[in-house]
Amino acid sequence: MLSAERLAQTFASLAAISSVSRREGALASELKTRLDELGAETIFDDSAAATGSDTGNLIARLAGTHAGPALLLSAHMDTVQPGEGIAVLFRDGVFTSDGTTILGADDKSAIAVILETLSVLKEDHIPHGPIEIVFTTCEEVGLAGVRNLDFSLISASYGYVLDGSDTEGVIVQAPSANRFEVLVIGRDAHAGAHPEKGINAIHLAAKAMAGLAVGRIDQETTCNIGWIEGGVATNVVPPLVTIRGEARSHDEAKLERVTAGIVSAFERTVAEQRAFAGQDGLPRLEVQVQRSYSRTRIPVDHMLVTLARRAAAKLGRSMKAKISGGGSDANIFFEKEILLGILGTGMREIHTLREYVRLDDMVRAAELLLEIIQLHALMAS
Ligand SMILES: [Zn+2]
Repeated sequence: MLSAERLAQTFASLAAISSVSRREGALASELKTRLDELGAETIFDDSAAATGSDTGNLIARLAGTHAGPALLLSAHMDTVQPGEGIAVLFRDGVFTSDGTTILGADDKSAIAVILETLSVLKEDHIPHGPIEIVFTTCEEVGLAGVRNLDFSLISASYGYVLDGSDTEGVIVQAPSANRFEVLVIGRDAHAGAHPEKGINAIHLAAKAMAGLAVGRIDQETTCNIGWIEGGVATNVVPPLVTIRGEARSHDEAKLERVTAGIVSAFERTVAEQRAFAGQDGLPRLEVQVQRSYSRTRIPVDHMLVTLARRAAAKLGRSMKAKISGGGSDANIFFEKEILLGILGTGMREIHTLREYVRLDDMVRAAELLLEIIQLHALMAS
């Protein structure tokens, strides 16, 4: 039987283990111990060298009582900052931190839900197919863990990432994203003595950005200028400003259009200024655009959607196939042709000091996962 009390204890003890990105080692070894006790075969991959983490991704295989295709379950081990010395509080059915750190329900609520589900499978001798579990590092720092995952250790071609809020939704579409960095290079000069010798990079960048559309561009496209740095002192004409931002869309053509639009706004502004600015090629730009991740698009008649719907129906609940505005480990799995729907655990206000999760929601997530696993054994065999 699913035990809310055990699930609560598991979550509380995992949340108390600090695991900020690249320092997931202590949590990883605790999880390996727990998975070993559940009868899974565990292995760490060699991703640590590439990610700079103190551990690799943790991969576990649980043999099925039935033969059949494996079901993949994934969650990430790392948290954002401030995530050290977390005091886990539990009051009126709700987990929070003490308000000085994040809680780390993102994504330890998912790990606790998966462990509770596996405990029930074992205790109650519930028939199930092969299950593969991937606990990744460094999700919060550009999906670095999964990018360096040893995919030769994975045989499953579908499953779920537990890394969302909504316990009655499965996310089947996530956008593509580009990130960009623009250096606007002007010329320094004394601001009082020779301002006419300078080219003010901050002013130029501001002109370029003032004309940009940011925020929600349309229903499936967003854009953000997220970071800016520049200047030397109030009495120096600033020679350099760096701007970083991102764009996302479910539509590749729109994403390229928005990204190109940003770059050309800077190019136009700088070119206008250069027309009467002298012989040294200033001002000028350095632009880098990189793909962060590519979109996912899981057909709504895919087995994993059907499984989630039927499992929810058995529990008398609704289940919607949903579209997300965010990227996750699932985007990288998708590139490797491993289709993962994203399920929720009830985590809320993530990446803030107000982060919380209700025990009831984690119980609901575990109930759903347990049904999914049982239905999977039936449908896949
Ligand atoms: Zn997460």
